Amino acid sequence: MKVIKNISELRQTVSAMRRSKEGEKVGLVPTMGYLHEGHVSLIEAARSQCGTVVLSIFVNPLQFGPNEDYETYPRDTERDLRIAEQAGVDIVFLPEAGEMYPQPTRTKVVVSGITDRLCGASRPGHFDGVATVVTKLFHIVEPDKAYFGMKDAQQVAVIEQFVFDLNMNVEIVRCPTLREADGLAMSSRNVRLSPEERKQAVVLYQALTRLDDWLKEDGMTFEKLQDGLRRYIADNAPLAAVNYAEVLTYPALTPVAGPVRDFHGEIIAALAVKFGGTRLIDNRIFTLKKRRCRLCSER
Ligand code: AMP
Repeated sequence: MKVIKNISELRQTVSAMRRSKEGEKVGLVPTMGYLHEGHVSLIEAARSQCGTVVLSIFVNPLQFGPNEDYETYPRDTERDLRIAEQAGVDIVFLPEAGEMYPQPTRTKVVVSGITDRLCGASRPGHFDGVATVVTKLFHIVEPDKAYFGMKDAQQVAVIEQFVFDLNMNVEIVRCPTLREADGLAMSSRNVRLSPEERKQAVVLYQALTRLDDWLKEDGMTFEKLQDGLRRYIADNAPLAAVNYAEVLTYPALTPVAGPVRDFHGEIIAALAVKFGGTRLIDNRIFTLKKRRCRLCSER
């Protein structure tokens, strides 16, 4: 496994591997490090589909707000490199901030609409930072495929949108969310939870699981679903502060209202919940089919 900190060296190394493994794909897995099994599942997906697997580890300052946790984001490069090697990564790209941003960037990739709600609303500028750094990584590595986790479903929607709008020649591969035994979505930030916060953090998954029953209830509306999520968290996790609990269309992330039975298509139920200084997110996506009225004679 090669560990590379410099953009031009990375370009040369990827080109050489591409030439030596002709006909095989280059896969990119972008991360911020402090790797866990969720990241490893992305690497494994890339390993199974690509001849060359590039893992990037970069805590991107551009996607953190002024009062967010850029400085304190968990970092452990040695441990990450051991995990990456075991998972079968070919190249780790590990740039310093000065390598990615040698001067303040005057160019940003800004995706509108999809970024108006959820994390886009609660973390202004976050997705400009994500879209800009992912675009830079795509230009640097020129991957055939890039792997992203659906735990960050809004991020996937944003990335798919700019790849489409800007005709980027990369296939985005959506990967499922990996969870701890009790259901908590794996996240680098989970280590920051106190033992009591960790116990209560399972409430995000439990609230999302309640949706399976709620969606079947007669007379269920999208408004009631959102209220139900908020109430479930408030009733079951006294340490939780809900940042958002929303049900929207996916991937457009537009509001939905009224009876669930009238809706046809994909929806996302998305949560952001703070436990002390630690902000956790989770979501589930459902495909709803418009239900026919049993009493009337619709086709
Ligand atoms: P991060 O290092 O948190 O920026 O995440 C890097 C990539 O790993 C992103 O595409 C995330 O969506 C993905 N990821 C993070 N947590 C999980 C998880 N629990 N399951 C699957 N993918 C994940």
